[in-house]
Amino acid sequence: MKRSLLKLACFLYVITSMSAVAAAEPLRVVASFSIIGDFARQVGGEHIELTTLVGPNSDAHVYSPRPADAKAVARADVVLVNGLSFEEFLSRLVKASGTRAPVVELTRNADILNDPKGGHYHFINGEAVFHATPNDPHAWQSIANAKMYVQNIAEAFCAADSTNCAEYEANAAAYNETLSALDTQIRLTIADVPKDRRVGVVAHNAFRYFERDYGVTFLSPQGVSTASEASAADVASLIREIRNKRAAAVFAENISDTRLVRQIASEAGLELSGALYSDALSTASGPASHYTDMMRHNAQTIATALAAD
Ligand SMILES: [Zn+2]
Ligand SMILES: [Zn+2]
Repeated sequence: MKRSLLKLACFLYVITSMSAVAAAEPLRVVASFSIIGDFARQVGGEHIELTTLVGPNSDAHVYSPRPADAKAVARADVVLVNGLSFEEFLSRLVKASGTRAPVVELTRNADILNDPKGGHYHFINGEAVFHATPNDPHAWQSIANAKMYVQNIAEAFCAADSTNCAEYEANAAAYNETLSALDTQIRLTIADVPKDRRVGVVAHNAFRYFERDYGVTFLSPQGVSTASEASAADVASLIREIRNKRAAAVFAENISDTRLVRQIASEAGLELSGALYSDALSTASGPASHYTDMMRHNAQTIATALAAD
């Protein structure tokens, strides 16, 4: 009896290992940050093994790669990035890893905005830090552009794994239909805000694409640092702009320190009206753990705050 059980166990073991070999290896995908990670999962489904480098609520600007990241990039089949100088940590990581995987810039063929100021400011640890980006990298804040990211991902997956290409293309097409419906929904949400109230203030200038596509103007602090006396003048000029343009709300942001926007809100006599998700998704328990939830949440938060008296 014992011996036959052992035989059966051996037989089962052989069968299982055979089927493990027969099953296709998943496509190893590295996504630079959470929003691209979500797109990759929507297109790749169960056929990909996904590593996302900069996680939820984290700022890609100040990210320092871990040794595990270099390993993931080294063994990747495809590396998906935003490009346009968004992931400043990436080129060194790619080089150090020695990967031979294609590094695919998802903003390719998207409708990109030039930045007349040559970049934007971040407020990091009390200091103003200029991020030089002649082309605005925050292209995902336009749903039309997000659809281009998705199409580029499907093409990259098909090039690396032709066996599952039809499925990648079908997933991308279905997801892009969801995105088109969301685009319409956001236009309706913003349409509820009276035209003379469509001005808000954000912590960093990440919403120029949202502004272009949905007609809400965003002001943001330029070169303001709470650590420097010189920036009192910059704060004063922003407060004047807020009054001239009759901005109706100040928003915090999931990746930014709230000290600066709190100071601006109090000097402008406005309330802080909730947090927007700019350069990262929320964790699974938050309101923006997927791109679609993020865009819906932002539009709703903006519309509610701007329409309120
Ligand atoms: Zn930046
Ligand atoms: Zn940003």
